[in-house]
Amino acid sequence: MTTPNSFAALGLAEPLLRAVQETGYSAPTPIQAQAIPQVLQGGDLLAAAQTGTGKTAGFTLPILHRLLTQPAESVRPGRPRCLILTPTRELTAQVEESVRVYGKHTPLRSMVMFGGVNINPQITALRKPLDILVATPGRLLDHVQQKTLDLSGVEILVLDEADRMLDMGFIRDIRRILALLPKRRQNLLFSATFSDEIRELSRGVLNNPVEVSVARRNTASELVSQSVVMTEQAHKRDLLSFIIRESGWYQVLVFTRTKHGANRLAEKLTKDGLSAAAIHGNKSQAARTRALAGFKDGKITVLVATDIAARGLDIDQLPNVVNFELPNVPEDYVHRIGRTGRAGSPGSALSLVDQSEIKYLNAIEKLIKKPIERTTVEGWTPSMVQAEAPRERQPSRQAPAARRAAPRAKPKGEAGSHSRDNRDSRPRRSGSRRSNEGRPARSTTDSALRT
Ligand code: AMP
Repeated sequence: MTTPNSFAALGLAEPLLRAVQETGYSAPTPIQAQAIPQVLQGGDLLAAAQTGTGKTAGFTLPILHRLLTQPAESVRPGRPRCLILTPTRELTAQVEESVRVYGKHTPLRSMVMFGGVNINPQITALRKPLDILVATPGRLLDHVQQKTLDLSGVEILVLDEADRMLDMGFIRDIRRILALLPKRRQNLLFSATFSDEIRELSRGVLNNPVEVSVARRNTASELVSQSVVMTEQAHKRDLLSFIIRESGWYQVLVFTRTKHGANRLAEKLTKDGLSAAAIHGNKSQAARTRALAGFKDGKITVLVATDIAARGLDIDQLPNVVNFELPNVPEDYVHRIGRTGRAGSPGSALSLVDQSEIKYLNAIEKLIKKPIERTTVEGWTPSMVQAEAPRERQPSRQAPAARRAAPRAKPKGEAGSHSRDNRDSRPRRSGSRRSNEGRPARSTTDSALRT
């Protein structure tokens, strides 16, 4: 198969080509070059592609083309022709934004639908004609129950990030939704991995699909420099704060395993004078949107997120990703580091690893088929914490409690000097770091990390 190297060669309608041109894309990405012709032909598609590959335009553009060139048989309010299901609110909003951007020169109408926000504006919006609905499964079923949504006109179904939807326990909701759709329709399924569960789902949903696959980010991410710092869980917050400030990082996405951990870390970093925000499922939609916007436009230096909340965040060319804890599913590591080193720009992925996480580290290195470099942090002496906390023999659940019992390091003298007043300041470059850290000063370097 020859790969089209321009959007025009893909045969997309002129209003779509104009919109693509306005975005500044010069050529289709590999997933776009493979997926767009298949979708235009009307067949089903099973695609292995992650966020960052351009997959959203890969399905949005040909869907817009089909809806544009094949007018609806009957147009009724609240009756979409295309349904795109996604796992998270963020991804839902981002996909719908893409629909708007690529469809801006067409009369096609789209709508976003997710939970955690007042349902009434959505009900009002559904009183108007609608072509493309981008939704999370739970809220969609609420609307079905309230009879505010009619799925009998769906011609195209997209399951985006289907692996995540399964991970998040949406399978029953998905099955209920499938039962409400017309039997004759086009189905597109996108997933980062083709696990047994995805294969099973695709067998139930797709008819004779064409399979396309683009390189996983771990194979593509030669530009991402990966490193590990061995430390103790109890030191991680101090250590990370130190690294970010000393290295002058200005945009860091940090992954924590728990929502509580995300909050605690964001609070600590804020206390240390960094502008940081946590983003997770317990936050209101408004807070999440605000944090993401702040992070994108540079007002927030550190975004602390759980895997689920971070899923689908469309942030280009992120320079730094940190695993505050390693994920226990090795594929999640690949997802996480796929946030950096995008679009040809170099990135760094740093993992802070406690003894108890060695088993996860081993599993990750096995998956990516290479060892991750061990790094030390120049100028970092966790002296107080180390002196007080007995080293835990057992890397078990009781370790954190024992460490918590250990008195914290003496209050740092500088705590008040970089308080909240300083929140929006950019992290200091090493040259401007405070001298009263109580830690050995380093000479000129712009990174605290040493291999
Ligand atoms: P996605 O994988 O859909 O989340 O897209 C990742 C990023 O790639 C988004 O910021 C898109 O705007 C961008 N993108 C999509 N298609 C192209 C393209 N053909 N050329 C350059 N960037 C693109």
